[in-house]
Amino acid sequence: MMNDFDGEMARRLAALRADGLWRELRRVETPQSPRLRIGGQTLLNFASNDYLGLANDPAVREAAIRAVEQYGAGAGASRLVCGSLAPHHALDEALAAFKGVEAALSFSSGYASALGALGALLGRGDFVILDQRVHASIVDAARLCGAKLRVFNHNDLDSLEARLKWVRAQASARKARALVVTESVFSMDGDHAPLRELAALKERYGAWLMVDEAHAVGLYGARGRGLAAALGVSERIEVQMGTLGKAMGAAGGYLCGSRALVDCLINRARPFLFSTAPVPAAVAAAAAGVRLAQSRTGEERRARLWQNVARLLPAAPARAPTDRSAIIPIRIGDEARALAIADALRAREIFLPAIRYPTVARGAARLRLTVTAAHTPADLDQLQAALDALGLELDPGS
Ligand SMILES: *Cc1c(COP(=O)(O)O)cnc(C)c1O
Repeated sequence: MMNDFDGEMARRLAALRADGLWRELRRVETPQSPRLRIGGQTLLNFASNDYLGLANDPAVREAAIRAVEQYGAGAGASRLVCGSLAPHHALDEALAAFKGVEAALSFSSGYASALGALGALLGRGDFVILDQRVHASIVDAARLCGAKLRVFNHNDLDSLEARLKWVRAQASARKARALVVTESVFSMDGDHAPLRELAALKERYGAWLMVDEAHAVGLYGARGRGLAAALGVSERIEVQMGTLGKAMGAAGGYLCGSRALVDCLINRARPFLFSTAPVPAAVAAAAAGVRLAQSRTGEERRARLWQNVARLLPAAPARAPTDRSAIIPIRIGDEARALAIADALRAREIFLPAIRYPTVARGAARLRLTVTAAHTPADLDQLQAALDALGLELDPGS
């Protein structure tokens, strides 16, 4: 029996390899920073989402250490049983103040936040309408929540309106709800959703809107509140989502909005109800990240981040602050070719792994370059030299 099982797995893995889709873990011997020690080699890291360089920041580390000393290593139970420790409450309050909303609820990850939101808000007979390029966590949440799933073309308002019309026709006789979900800054392309227009459209059709700010919080708007805040539409978004593992430098995710939303999540979000609360170190580190992102240090890091982006893309037309992106895709297409280019970059001490299906569509493989505040001008020049040597050009339109 076991041999049959392993034989079947081996066949599946061989098929992945043949398609250029094989993945493997790399052991990183250093903290997150622009230089990673991987497999005996020191590589310049352009793959991290640690946009503000907070993951190994002394203040964030210190907050985690102090939380362990005061509250221990584990949380012991879910928050609704006896695991809702003071640091969890402090994080939720810090998030609500940061985002300027009535209430916020933290989760063990952004992925869990997505599952929690859709499962709590929607059920059989409801409708969920996703932008074609939303993150896998939202796709999985939509499949799991029992609502009818519809997808609109990426950032295409006409396509969304057609789905909303269809839903209205389906739903007219019943009390069905429709939730539109998008990202403010898309994770694999770095482009932005037209949030004002989306808000106007969902209001016209009486739908709700959820926006995932995983790649925007900490980067855009006053004090890094996110792109929705920068565009002045936060109050028209029923559910705001984000992660604490990217620019915030720690781990976890959050949902925020009205007090009623958060009370509903506390009662209905299954990843919140049925999972042990995050460890004190993680939530205290996240709270420190939230505090730092809003501070003068945060402002300085954001300024350096955008200077770094401008150094790599000097030909890009001057952008409004809300149109910039720290995610710069280098589109390759073929999976095997993307892998070969990533290998060639690694030989030049640049870590820029190939992103392939199912993270992006088949035949849409790319190198996903992320710039952070922690990169120095010399780091960026070293990257540019390696890209030049391989004949790779950064698209100034991206
Ligand atoms: C990373 C990411 C998530 C998941 O967040 P985690 O905290 O890593 O689980 C959700 N949405 C988007 C757009 C992401 O990029």
